[in-house]
Amino acid sequence: MSSIHHANKDAKTLGLTKGARKVLELLEQSQDLSSAQDIYGKLRTEEEKPPGLTTVYRSLESLVTMGLVQAVDLGDGERRYEVVAPGEHHHHLVCRECGTSTHLDSCLVETIEHSIKTQYKFEIDSHVFEVFGTCAECQSKRK
Ligand SMILES: [Zn+2]
Ligand SMILES: [Zn+2]
Ligand SMILES: [Zn+2]
Repeated sequence: MSSIHHANKDAKTLGLTKGARKVLELLEQSQDLSSAQDIYGKLRTEEEKPPGLTTVYRSLESLVTMGLVQAVDLGDGERRYEVVAPGEHHHHLVCRECGTSTHLDSCLVETIEHSIKTQYKFEIDSHVFEVFGTCAECQSKRK
């Protein structure tokens, strides 16, 4: 699963600003989903002149627009970000007890999209799909 976080995208990052490139670098180092606040916090400890939070948000959103990063909505009002292979995305299993997010290998929603298109003649441009519950580890701790 880690391979998707290290896909070759050098050609795609050429047009990035220095700030956006740094944000991308920090996201690549992280195995977990990061919020803009997380990135901002890291920049503040690493950089002499850290950018403002608004700039961090803008960099993140431009990376999302370019398809290098995906934004994830876990329903708590704060968008989280992670590096994906260019143009790809995936979904998560989120444990309510320990808070870990398991990355699903692929989309899995495409089959559902296909039947929606057929049945409702609806043109889909995006979808949100995250699964909440209790991870295997937390279940075993209950016993
Ligand atoms: Zn758990
Ligand atoms: Zn993920
Ligand atoms: Zn999907």
